[in-house]
Amino acid sequence: MSAQAFLPVDLHCHSVFSDGVLTPAELAERAHANGVRLWALTDHDEVSGLSQARAHAQDRGMVFVDGVEISVTWAGHTVHVVGLGINPAHPGLRASLHAMRVGRQARARAIGDRLADLGFAHAYDGALPFAANPELVSRTHFARFLVQQGHCADLGEAFRRYLGDGKPAFVPTRWASLTQAVEWIRQAGGKAIIAHPGRYDLDDTRSHALFSQFQDLGGVGIEVLTGSHTAQEYAIYAQVARRYGFQVSCGSDFHGPSEGRIDLGGLPPLPAGLVPVWQEWL
Ligand code: AMP
Ligand code: MN
Ligand code: MN
Ligand code: MN
Repeated sequence: MSAQAFLPVDLHCHSVFSDGVLTPAELAERAHANGVRLWALTDHDEVSGLSQARAHAQDRGMVFVDGVEISVTWAGHTVHVVGLGINPAHPGLRASLHAMRVGRQARARAIGDRLADLGFAHAYDGALPFAANPELVSRTHFARFLVQQGHCADLGEAFRRYLGDGKPAFVPTRWASLTQAVEWIRQAGGKAIIAHPGRYDLDDTRSHALFSQFQDLGGVGIEVLTGSHTAQEYAIYAQVARRYGFQVSCGSDFHGPSEGRIDLGGLPPLPAGLVPVWQEWL
């Protein structure tokens, strides 16, 4: 028996319905070409791409899982919670996500104002063409604008210098509460997963508080393999999953062909001794 080079599972990525650059059809094609058998689309605060993604996934013989990535404010930090196996038609979920997207519009204008103050005129109007979904203008779209204009070499620089938390063009935003996000996902029949836990700037006490509160609310798992984690973090969060009895999810967090560290379908095999969240799906 030879070990597989890549995990045939990818349960986290973004389309043009949020801040990805590919359509659901293009993502399905890429996932399939890269050997994915079980795929989820998880746009930020948005489920409108799922019906197209599902149709294209099924055309290619992949198993498709309806997903979403909900923005949460927890103890002053932005935390992302992925919902997998949700019913995208659930009225409560749809209404709640819609309200979050409405809030993004004023925030995007405020980000544009801050960038204008920093000398980047018309940043809001410049970011808009990058956002195919006018309800979902994100910092990523502003970052792409800054790169296009030659102000930054890449997205990382745009976040480091301007858009990242606490940086000059950062506009503090109150997203959903952890309780709300987990409730919305569970009410829509899905499993709640903490996305890329290695990305939050939390000390051990805070991390423990997040994981145990999440578990008490009915959250079932954490991402271990993600494009946001280093190999060392794979091991750290595998251990966290074993310690808390969390199921494990894995996804590239792919946004586009020339962005990010890991391609769609490019995750390595899962460390031993973990319970995959996808057991019942594949
Ligand atoms: P928003 O939801 O508008 O706050 O935008 C958050 C998105 O910005 C994340 O989902 C990432 O896609 C992107 N992002 C955050 N930090 C970085 C970074 N350092 N480099 C590239 N993209 C980033
Ligand atoms: Mn994103
Ligand atoms: Mn995220
Ligand atoms: Mn993501």
